[in-house]
Amino acid sequence: MIEITDIEKIYRMGGETLTALNKVSLSIQEGEFTSIMGPSGSGKSTLMNILGLLDRFDSGQYFLNGTDVSSISDTERAHIRNKEIGFVFQSFNLMARMNVLENVMLPLVYGKVPRKERKERAVEALEKVGLGDRLNHLTNEISGGQKQRVAIARAIVNRPSVLMADEPTGNLDSKTTEDIMRIFQDLNDEGTTIVMVTHEPEMAEYTKRTIHFRDGALQKDEYLVPKRLSKTEVR
Ligand code: ADP
Ligand code: MG
Repeated sequence: MIEITDIEKIYRMGGETLTALNKVSLSIQEGEFTSIMGPSGSGKSTLMNILGLLDRFDSGQYFLNGTDVSSISDTERAHIRNKEIGFVFQSFNLMARMNVLENVMLPLVYGKVPRKERKERAVEALEKVGLGDRLNHLTNEISGGQKQRVAIARAIVNRPSVLMADEPTGNLDSKTTEDIMRIFQDLNDEGTTIVMVTHEPEMAEYTKRTIHFRDGALQKDEYLVPKRLSKTEVR
């Protein structure tokens, strides 16, 4: 599904250069639930932004579902991103002036899905994250954990082949974090491939594979028996 080879990312600021990714190679198969761990500044977000087609890289190759996305145009990149990737950010990135339902329908507007189908699919995605009863709330009327669940619904509404999350629970308390991890496990059980960055070892325990990152390179790659959370109850 995801296959990167010798990816290098160099940031240039004035005369300074910083190698954030140092020839990283990695493959992720369909159905995996992978966590990426590592100290602050080790390149986790840089890697996720590249995997999520949000940023470019300097050398190496990236195949996504068999397509070489290493040197495609920005338009094509945006098209593939909208179709194949759902991305969840630590800061939620919701539209404050839109209600919950409108936020989740947004990717379908870009994806040119017919109006009637947009609402059906958005409601379905919101029910999956336990927010079927919050459709008309504004985003400032709901809690942080609910905001992140809206962001997850928005990320999955296009039925992407992979869901990516960069420290999705970094701003949430431990109870709410557990809710989010339970939703991820449910989605993964249903077949969604997930890649998640975290710096909390307890969160990595819920995933099937953990990649340890250090100084822009893979340090360790381990497959685990994940700690299970019970199925999501709608609350
Ligand atoms: P992590 O997510 O693991 O904390 P990042 O990928 O954000 O790490 O950063 C890796 C390195 O690249 C850090 O040294 C960081 O300061 C640097 N970096 C990240 N983004 C930029 C940028 N846009 N411009 C310059 N340097 C950056
Ligand atoms: Mg980061």
